[in-house]
Amino acid sequence: MTRPHEWPADLDVTAALAGGFRPYAFREFVLKINQRCNLACDYCYVYAMGDHSWRDRPSVMSGEVLRTAAARIAEHAREHELDTVRVILHGGEPLLSGRDRLAALIGRLKTDIGDRRLQIAVQTNGLLLDEPMLDLFRAEGVQVGVSMDGAGADNDRHRRHADGRGSAAAVERALGLLTDARYRPIFAGILCTIDVTTDPAQVYEALLRHRPPQIDFLLPHANWSRPPTRPDQRDDAYGDWLVAVFDRWYDAPRQETRVRVLEEILSLVLGGASRSEQVGLSPVTVAVVESDGDIEQVDSLKSAFPGASATGLNIATNSFDQALRHPGIVARQLGAAALCAECVACSIHELCGAGHYAHRYATGRGFLNRSVYCADLSRIITHVRRRVTADIADRERGESAGVRSP
Ligand code: SF4
Repeated sequence: MTRPHEWPADLDVTAALAGGFRPYAFREFVLKINQRCNLACDYCYVYAMGDHSWRDRPSVMSGEVLRTAAARIAEHAREHELDTVRVILHGGEPLLSGRDRLAALIGRLKTDIGDRRLQIAVQTNGLLLDEPMLDLFRAEGVQVGVSMDGAGADNDRHRRHADGRGSAAAVERALGLLTDARYRPIFAGILCTIDVTTDPAQVYEALLRHRPPQIDFLLPHANWSRPPTRPDQRDDAYGDWLVAVFDRWYDAPRQETRVRVLEEILSLVLGGASRSEQVGLSPVTVAVVESDGDIEQVDSLKSAFPGASATGLNIATNSFDQALRHPGIVARQLGAAALCAECVACSIHELCGAGHYAHRYATGRGFLNRSVYCADLSRIITHVRRRVTADIADRERGESAGVRSP
């Protein structure tokens, strides 16, 4: 039987604190302002992967929950002297809230948290992006990220309406509007979930046509009990897919866009830190507030088992500081101390960090495992390291031969 929280068996928060661990303040708050969605993507961790908690929550975050959430975020920012906090309006599909309601809640967040230290972003499937909505976001300085998996059939393979209709045409229209000169400054980028059966360069170039400031490629949520689709049973097919995108991106004569996961790996290879949960050992500093005020860990944990992201805390009675002491949050801030023995022994564990926490899960064994994408992570990380090392060596050889670097 699955326990509600199958955290690392040896994780003792009191012992971790006694051993010198200090929690890192939350800096990013995901507000689930609308639980419903106008698409039915088949890989969605909210609706299609076994956690049905959304059915028991209000479909819309009430004004009272929003006010309490804003006050709690402000309290956390004050107590930890945070210069900036980022609030992401999320769902379901957040734009289903409607323009007037969004305007009211953005105003409330700014009043309570303070305009100066607040960054607001919205992550949308794009279907309801129109000029009035974009005028509001532009006026309020809200950054807009759009989810899209490629052009035409590549997108429509998974991102479909409940009746099977694809969404690509509507998202193309939305991106056409968002990339208009009036709105381009608020275009945050495109989020793309990888399908290994697609042509990676074709997907990258289809997204690039919209000149996004950033693309992020996500591995589809999967774990040892619900493994990812692997055509031909190849255990590093996702790694190969990312290698093809890396080579296309890295070899471009000039930078075409930022690709978040690849930049994170590059940063790690060069001795820096990562800011993404996909790779590296950096502490996760994201908290989620559900429409009923429940404080949860990252939403994607719902792909592991029902209730996996729950903390048992609610903003009505609990502070975010209390959430910082939850074993699941601590586990994702502990770095190498929360890895399984196999990962600790792995030569690239400081770069890989066992990947996304949700991808380590196995029924009965919890999260103390290597990633179900282990071979893929190894493939892309070692490839990036090999290419960067070769470039540095070339440059050093050129410099010692008296050839000036550009
Ligand atoms: S998931 Fe695999 S590649 Fe990553 S640290 Fe663990 S053993 Fe190494």
